[in-house]
Amino acid sequence: MTVLNCSATTCIYNENSLCSRGEIEVRGDQAHRSAETCCSSFRDRNSQAAKNMAEKKHCGCERIQIDCKAQECTYNEHCKCTAAAIDIDGPNANKYEDTQCGTFVCKH
Ligand code: SF4
Repeated sequence: MTVLNCSATTCIYNENSLCSRGEIEVRGDQAHRSAETCCSSFRDRNSQAAKNMAEKKHCGCERIQIDCKAQECTYNEHCKCTAAAIDIDGPNANKYEDTQCGTFVCKH
């Protein structure tokens, strides 16, 4: 599994820049650059919905399962990320569109 470093510290699942969710979904079906991708699993830690989910949190794990729709990325094989490590960026994110996969590299 991929090592995930995540700078979206405003996400309810973020624990010291690790993700506690267990698995995430990265979107970007038509993406040709990082900015066109996003982590759709992001949830603003200040939203009421996120507070309701707080009990379901897992531990902050370094390795995580990534379901990725950015099929134009070099690391994407059948919607799974094969990179050894990735960075999800979004230090000021308050919605999932504000995040992106900083490791995206276009195949073309
Ligand atoms: S590195 Fe590529 S395949 Fe892996 S999550 Fe980022 S965009 Fe998806």
